[in-house]
Amino acid sequence: MDQSALEQIIVCPACKKPMQFRDDIFKCTDAGCNATYPVFNGIPILINPQNDLFEQKDFEVEGDIFFKTYNNKTIRFLKKVQPDITYNNVSEKNYQDMAFLLQGQKPLRILILGGSVDGVGIKHLKQILDTDDMLVETDVSYGPNTTVICDAHEIPFADESFDLIIAQAVLEHVLDPFQCVREMHRVLKNKGLIYAETPFMQQVHGGKYDFLRFTHLGHRRMFRKFNEISSGVVAGAGSALVWSLKYFLTSFANTKKVDRILSYGGTFLFFWIKYFDIILNKSTGTIDAASGFYFLGRKEEGYLLSDRELLASYRGFRYSAEE
Ligand SMILES: [Zn+2]
Repeated sequence: MDQSALEQIIVCPACKKPMQFRDDIFKCTDAGCNATYPVFNGIPILINPQNDLFEQKDFEVEGDIFFKTYNNKTIRFLKKVQPDITYNNVSEKNYQDMAFLLQGQKPLRILILGGSVDGVGIKHLKQILDTDDMLVETDVSYGPNTTVICDAHEIPFADESFDLIIAQAVLEHVLDPFQCVREMHRVLKNKGLIYAETPFMQQVHGGKYDFLRFTHLGHRRMFRKFNEISSGVVAGAGSALVWSLKYFLTSFANTKKVDRILSYGGTFLFFWIKYFDIILNKSTGTIDAASGFYFLGRKEEGYLLSDRELLASYRGFRYSAEE
């Protein structure tokens, strides 16, 4: 990726004015703002100095902000051999669809929020990228992919910079997902694509960084300024049941050690139930009971899904009061 092309679209996250890059420091050109941003090990730390949650200096030591790395050998072994408790055969297909929709548009500019590590199925998108394309993988943690540190509430890029923006299993971990989606809308080009996956029936999995869940329609409404290409279940009620059984077990824990044992025990005891989703991921009834949902849409200037249209798009079988 061309580093100077990236520098050209970076703006001050605080005031969105252009920045000057000199001596490994980004400096806001707005006289009233004057904020500065360091670059640490080649990675710009574009966190607003006024940010309430994250500080720039948090990122000047490489450590665990979100994902924990374990030193204990047993835990490392268990983490490696444990089966996934979610049956997701949907993301791969969605990334293939995105790759198809972006065909012929070169060079591509793609922004990934929460992209420090690869999301499920993203390799199908990455394999269409070549050296002229720009892939900006941002996060509030360091991982093998992190190219920029930024907070999704204040995206440090100029308006209409990207052809595709991805937030896969991210919006449940931010304090104000609606603000993040407004920012995604701002930095997306007109006719650009947006893709999000967000859980519905999933227990707390990001420790303290875990705040919200969405129904299919609740999720759709968050993206009401985008025209829908497709949306639906990422993993069905089978995966949701594995999660529930596992967390039913861990609910008995009073110490971290017992929690660990019950957590791995629950995974190995119940993971097989996820295979019901081979059937359930395609059934209509699962829309009211799914583990999570995705939304793939397109920015169209002036488009707004009305709430009447939103409710008319309900696909499930649950009755409402007037029936
Ligand atoms: Zn500024």
